[in-house]
This record gives sequence, structure tokens and C-alpha cells, in this order.
Amino acid sequence: MRRTKIVVTIGPSSRDPQTIKSLIEAGVNVFRLNFSHGDQNYHRENIEKIRKISQELNIPVAILQDLSGPKIRIGEVKTPFTLHQGEILEIYKRPITCEKIDGIGKVYIDFPEILDDLKEGDLIYIADGLIKVKLIKKELEKIVTQVIQGGVISSKKGVNFPGAHLSISALTEKDKKDLEFGLKMEVDLIALSFVNTPKDIIECKKLVEKYQKKTFILAKIETQKGVENFDEILKVVDGIMIARGDLGVEIPIERVPVIQKELVRKCKEKGKPVIIATQMLTSMINSTMPSRADISDIANAVLDGADALMLSDETTVGKYPVEAVKMMAKTIEEAEKIYFFGPEECQHVSPDFAIAYSSCILAEEIGAKIIVVFTKSGSSAMRVAKFRPKALILANVHNEEVLRRLNLVWGVYPYMVLSESNNVENMVKEFVKKAFNDKIISEEDTLVLTMGYPIGKIGSTNLIRVIKNDQLKEILSQ
Ligand code: PEP
Repeated sequence: MRRTKIVVTIGPSSRDPQTIKSLIEAGVNVFRLNFSHGDQNYHRENIEKIRKISQELNIPVAILQDLSGPKIRIGEVKTPFTLHQGEILEIYKRPITCEKIDGIGKVYIDFPEILDDLKEGDLIYIADGLIKVKLIKKELEKIVTQVIQGGVISSKKGVNFPGAHLSISALTEKDKKDLEFGLKMEVDLIALSFVNTPKDIIECKKLVEKYQKKTFILAKIETQKGVENFDEILKVVDGIMIARGDLGVEIPIERVPVIQKELVRKCKEKGKPVIIATQMLTSMINSTMPSRADISDIANAVLDGADALMLSDETTVGKYPVEAVKMMAKTIEEAEKIYFFGPEECQHVSPDFAIAYSSCILAEEIGAKIIVVFTKSGSSAMRVAKFRPKALILANVHNEEVLRRLNLVWGVYPYMVLSESNNVENMVKEFVKKAFNDKIISEEDTLVLTMGYPIGKIGSTNLIRVIKNDQLKEILSQ
């Protein structure tokens, strides 16, 4: 079974029920809803469809709500126009008709206050860096820029101001409303865009707590500040998304692969899930044949040890969403054949991590192919995953929310919702019988089990147990 998970962004190319079904069957673990596009009704429909189809197929998938954050965009452009090198582009503070008149491009942006923070000579990037302009004059109602690198201006293209110090919070008023909506719809994971400091995460956490939810928060790292403050951000967040689209504009693009490796290493060290996002299979947007570079990128991300890889345009507007997922799954499986499994040296860890580490070593030593984790919050399963065992991690939980959320985590297969019980023997029996009937285990298997005692107390993982095949047979005969 594949260890590295697949996150797919849902959009016009993939939101019809048949495609959602095919995507789940092709191996999608997490669906991402991009709140930079579509209104709440659009997302409600998508959530309802995904949940219904996932239930019908009996394959759990998680839903990730990706909040827009202060992503600066130009307004609606009725007729896309081309800007050439040397031409002028005016960027207005107030909404205007975005068009090209007499050779001068005119657009406006949301977050107009940002224009006050800029100075002459600053570079501005549009459409993920495809278009580059330089500020030549500041006026009261607009800035005047000159095109250094041309391209096509179309609706809602993103705008980046690399290096400029912008004073806006990662959680906008729109995000707060969307977050409330997402929590009511019981999304499983929330991604916060343009996280620059731990404060951004803490603000979001407080809101999640206000709604009495335990939804995981992921920080999207896509700015210079986010990279600089990464260690502090990682301390307070549940997981990370390396958002290479904006990151590749905000910092010199040649640094992206190195930063990716560094951030993945740090996440693994702390046992927190990390997604690598954007342009993983761009070549499959319009073709069934991927480029060799894209395939290598996926394989390298697997070998870095990322928990999950994400598709965006490939599945939102691409012609071949299902084929892209199949190709990604095949490439991951191939790369995992040479993955360097197993715990690296483990020093000075807490008892919880020591139990997780020991279960991996034990599974390796006795040739157990499955580590069964009984976990209430899911954190014990994540701790086992930190040590990247060759054995599959089967997580048994007490509720659907935890079950779905664990879909993001490397090597963890959220398997069963157990009835609440205080009795270890009953839980083990319930698991063994169901897993055998579902053909997850066979009579010949040896299992390593971890759990907390007393049962159900979060953070109490303190038991490791081996079930050899003769004991397995005995349980099955009861
Ligand atoms: C990215 O920038 O890589 C990203 C995932 O964010 P978005 O798609 O919201 O721009």
C-alpha cells in the first residue's frame, strides 16, 4: 500500500459525482477546497458530494479547507489582454474596468492599502511571477508601473510584492467567515495562507477553539517571513503546506527545492505532517503524458519523506484529473520501492515517542507487516509515522473525524471506528475479527499493537503488545 498521500484540489474539472467517485477510487486521500475561488454554496455542494460518495464507497477521505488569506489579486477582467515589455500598467486602488486602452493596461487590486507600503523601484509579480513590472511612479489613486516581462492579464490573477514589508494579517475578515462556515460543515483540516509568524496560527487556533472544534490547522509557507520564522511556526501548528506557487515568487525560485528539503526534514523531526504543493504534474493539465521532470519531482518529494503531495490546476481545470491522480499514485509507489524506511537514530524523546519508536523497531525485528495503533486523538498514530516504519500503520479510533483527518499522514491507514470500551481484550478482538474479515490481515500474520492504558486517555500511549500468528488464530477461533 502507498505510504505517501495524495491531496487533490476540487474544481470545475473534477466536481461532478462520477469524477469524484473515480478520483477516490484512483487513490485520493484528501480533497482540498480552495476558498480563493467559489462562494460558500459552491463549497457546500462539493463537501456534501464528497462525503456522500466517500460513504457509499466506504473509503474515508479528509476535506481540507484552504482559506484564501491576504492573497492579493487583480479584479475581474472581461477581455484578457497582453502586456508587452516596456508598456505601462497602472494599478488602481479603487475598482475600475480592467482593460487596455491606448496601449496602457489598467487594473485594480483588492487590499489597495498595500500600494501605500511600496516605493519606486519595487518589483511586482503577477500570475505566479509570469509577468513582472517595476513601480516607476506613485500617485494618490494609483501606482504606475513599467512592464519588464510581459504576458496575458486575465481575471483574478495573483499579485506578489516580494521583499516588500506588508502589514496585513494572515486571517482576513473573509477568512474568518469562511472558517466559521468550514467548521460548521465539519471540514477535517484547515490551511491558513501566507503565514508569516506564529501569531497568525494562534489567532486561527483561538477561533477554532471558540467553536469547540479540534480541527487541525496547517500553515502554508509561501513567504520569505514564513521561511525565516519556520521553527517558531512549526512549534504551534499541526502541520505544514509548502506552497511552492507563491513561494517561488516571494523568494528566488532556485531556492525552492532546497527549502522544500529543509522544511520536510524539520517536519519529520517533529512528527508533524507536511504537504508539498503546486506544479507537481503541470504537464498533465493538457496531456495524458507527463513530462519526465514532473515525474522526477514527485519521486523526489517521496524520497524527501513528505506526508502528502498535492495537485491543483491538474484537477481543477485540467483535462485529465483522474489520469493525473493515477499517474501520481503509480510514481509514488515506484519511488517508495527505494524509500529509506525505518527510524533514524532516536535520542532524547519523550516516553510517548519512545513507545512509538520501539513499536517500529519491534515490527522490523520480528518481521511484522502491520503496526496497529489504538488511538483516541490520532496523535499516537502520527508519532509512529514520524519514524517511517516499513510496516503499515493501521489506526483504530473512536470517531469519524479523527479517522478522516489521519488520511493526511504518511503511512497511516485510518481503519476502524471502535466502540468505546474499557476492555483491552475486547478491543483487540474487535479489531482482529474485522481486519481478518476485511482481508487486511491473514492468519499467518504477526502484529505489533500499541495503545494507551487506561484506555481512552489522550496522550497515554504506554503499551506495546505482539500478537503472534498462533495467538491470532486463537482469537479468530473464539
Ligand atoms: C501555492 O501558492 O502553492 C498554493 C498552494 O496556494 P494557492 O493555490 O492558494 O495560491
